[in-house]
Amino acid sequence: MAPPGRPRRENTVQTKLFIGGEFVEGVDGATIDVYDPHDGSLLAEVAEARATDVDRAVEAATKAFETWRHWSAEQRGRLLLKLADSIEEHAEELALLETRDTGHPIRDTRTLDVPRTAATFRYFGGMADKFQGSVIPVERGFLDYVVREPVGVVGQIVPWNFPLMFTSWKMGPALAAGNTVVLKPSELTPLSTLRVAELMAEVGFPPGVVNVVTGYGATAGTRIVQHPGIGKVSFTGSTAVGQGVARGAADTLKRVHLELGGKGANIVYGDADLDAAVQGSAFAIFHNQGQACIAGSRLILHESVADEFLDRFTALAGSVRLGDPKEPTTQMGPLTSAMHRDRVLTYLDAARNEGDEILTGGRAPDGAEFAAGYYLEPTVIEADPAHRVAREEVFGPVVAVHRFRTDEEALQIANAVEYGLGGGLWTRDLSRAHKVARELRSGMVWVNSYKRVNPGSPFGGVGRSGYGREMGFEAMHEYTEAKAVWINVDAELPRLYGEG
Ligand code: NAD
Repeated sequence: MAPPGRPRRENTVQTKLFIGGEFVEGVDGATIDVYDPHDGSLLAEVAEARATDVDRAVEAATKAFETWRHWSAEQRGRLLLKLADSIEEHAEELALLETRDTGHPIRDTRTLDVPRTAATFRYFGGMADKFQGSVIPVERGFLDYVVREPVGVVGQIVPWNFPLMFTSWKMGPALAAGNTVVLKPSELTPLSTLRVAELMAEVGFPPGVVNVVTGYGATAGTRIVQHPGIGKVSFTGSTAVGQGVARGAADTLKRVHLELGGKGANIVYGDADLDAAVQGSAFAIFHNQGQACIAGSRLILHESVADEFLDRFTALAGSVRLGDPKEPTTQMGPLTSAMHRDRVLTYLDAARNEGDEILTGGRAPDGAEFAAGYYLEPTVIEADPAHRVAREEVFGPVVAVHRFRTDEEALQIANAVEYGLGGGLWTRDLSRAHKVARELRSGMVWVNSYKRVNPGSPFGGVGRSGYGREMGFEAMHEYTEAKAVWINVDAELPRLYGEG
């Protein structure tokens, strides 16, 4: 069923801003072209939100907050649970929409993105009435209790690599905690978020509780960061933009949560199960064409297994089925934009210029089916850890390989970058697994697997990967303020002033 006032025909996509419970044009009617990365065709023209549109959205969210915050936690949770069900009912449609907009293979959007989106909304639906305050054991005669109150209107800015999933990561905890939301998807991939907004209207989220403004970072994004009516900004994106967000939020002293870039270390020790390590390492870097902040983009191999591992890994990389992401057999689709593919290619040029050895891949694939899309072959490069391709976030299907002799050397290479988001290791030695997990400078560590995420497990980084955490109880803390209430039950207060 279409939301009120907005008939929805089959095979069309929502292209308008979602403000105050309605789908509306932008203030000056400007639009953003959205392309299919498989063939460069125009998918949609989406309304472009300007600063004034963000202001309208904040106004709607501010008004909605006054009622939403008084809803019982159970009522808020129930709506999120309904939304999770609705996402599952529209699973195939959402998977296809995400695939067309991002280039992410349909086998993954069906089995990972959509189920994870539903699971995250469901988790936070359940969380809403489980998240509670505390009583502090203070001095005798007083009751000191702490309540967790919503921040108010929160601004959320997300990137283009997992737009559907990130809608749930951002909105789930914020709404469960009683905040209202103004979310800006990436200008490159706004379609699935707009569809979720339609589903939210259908399941009964009150007008203004959620607002989606599709606009550019420099205009709509900047306004979210600077708007005095927004109490917190949660940003996922590149480190450079994130730094600007933190600076921009300082004027209004907004709370800031930053989920930024990564350069994940993936260490394979001599005693690892090589079959599992080869498979897991391929998923770590080739899933979503390597466009993942937690991608395992640095393979650190013990010298005793490096040659055998690389023989198998490069053969596997060469066999990855590239193609139309809408085909169920496709294992890797195109990168999400032409500009981004070109950026990744500059890293391959840098690797060549610095003398690194490209073991496989390294270019756009041949063939008519790839000609108009933004494809790139899975690429494995044996690189000096000091070189650019090994230090900077490439954000493509490109893995830099290094060799090590001692455990100390492996850790030294792993911790040598400025990022600290996700990292992993493959070993059968339990003691080593715990020790390395302790020593890796990163927010998440996977042992004998890679890139596991769950709505209950804290997600976030250290260093140039940002601060704050998505998911679990940590996320609820991100979206609430602690208020301590002191009650004098039967304490006798000393008379400190006056007579006697
Ligand atoms: P980006 O930083 O260019 O853009 C992210 C979002 O910020 C977009 O919505 C964009 O429009 C907006 N934006 C751009 N300039 C802005 C500004 N001046 N003010 C406010 N908003 C602005 O990143 P991207 O290219 O879309 O995404 C890729 C990056 O995101 C990579 O670095 C990746 O590692 C990172 N990322 C991090 C995580 C994480 O959880 N740590 C997850 C996914 C992606």
